[in-house]
Amino acid sequence: MKIKEINRMVVKIGSSLLIDKDKGVNNNFLNNISEDILSLKKRGIETLVVSSGAIELGKIELDKTKEKFNLAESQAASSIGQIKLINSWKESLSKFDLNAAQILITAEDTENRKRFLNARSTIEELLREKYIPIINENDTVATSEIRYGDNDRLAARIAGMVAADCLILLSNVEGLYERDPSNEESRLVSNVEIIDKSITDMAGEAGELGRGGMITKIEAAKIATKSGCQMIISSGRVKNPILSSLNDGIGTVFQSQNKNLSALKSWISGSIKPSGEINIDNGANLALKNGKSLLSAGIINFDGEFDKGDTVTIKSRDKEVARGLTNFNSNDLSKIIGKKSEEIEEILGYLTKTEVIHRNNLFYSGNMDED
Ligand code: GLU
Repeated sequence: MKIKEINRMVVKIGSSLLIDKDKGVNNNFLNNISEDILSLKKRGIETLVVSSGAIELGKIELDKTKEKFNLAESQAASSIGQIKLINSWKESLSKFDLNAAQILITAEDTENRKRFLNARSTIEELLREKYIPIINENDTVATSEIRYGDNDRLAARIAGMVAADCLILLSNVEGLYERDPSNEESRLVSNVEIIDKSITDMAGEAGELGRGGMITKIEAAKIATKSGCQMIISSGRVKNPILSSLNDGIGTVFQSQNKNLSALKSWISGSIKPSGEINIDNGANLALKNGKSLLSAGIINFDGEFDKGDTVTIKSRDKEVARGLTNFNSNDLSKIIGKKSEEIEEILGYLTKTEVIHRNNLFYSGNMDED
């Protein structure tokens, strides 16, 4: 993507870049990024930052960098470190006449539609006021089972939220490698059109699991690209990392899909933890592919407990093909599986919608491994 095609971009900074091990914030690096953000601004590009580092900075302040923290200790550390983190950003950005604003967000804020829209308008307002949102997960309160835990996926969800054209994940990896990067024959993949099994297998082979590893980066790429945003994985260990990646095309670029998706469908597509899984038959899969709604007759079975309005995954032959907002809670759905739409009212004893998922609330991706 050429710089001039970008209007809005999200930059995710990993802790390993931002922090000098055991010492504290790497101000040179931060200034380098701030300078990049100013250059982007001069080109008319709005930037949002997703910055990690709170927990690590808290550990440094507590002088406990060698210790393995449990959840409560990490949460306490993040609340200590976040102050340092945001102050460092504020100081660095102000050297380039840029203003910082802090946003701390939880998974509930992005996964609940109302809260998502609320967070989105706050961020839009900040951008209108020409402030640079510096975003992190609100680790101090994020105890629920749908905690992000990694800022890669959070950044991808934010990119979808603000309809960014480009998300760049800066860390100390240069991109996606075909095999383990320590293997000399392993080559960097420069362009990914579709994230299919061959790509997820490469991430698996890289052997990095968990927070900030290649697997979470690929998960982030799925979220971002499905919502119409291009994603780049690039090294932050070069001078002006954002501009040099955009100008010289270094790193791995994941091409965006579904450019004209509605805001609602984009949000549905990027859900980080759908509440259930519905298995459908071939006929229903074909109907969804052709833009129809999901009806009870085509449902084989389902897993999970959910409420009306929750996001669920739709699977055909064990592979995800779509996501949507269900019109029935799991209790009622269990009573109408395989039944004709006309029978629903009598079975449930109340007047209701007849589609299990209406097509307007459904995002169809197809089986990414097959198509
Ligand atoms: N939110 C965490 C922090 O600020 C970082 C999560 C991550 O490294 O992806 O410490």
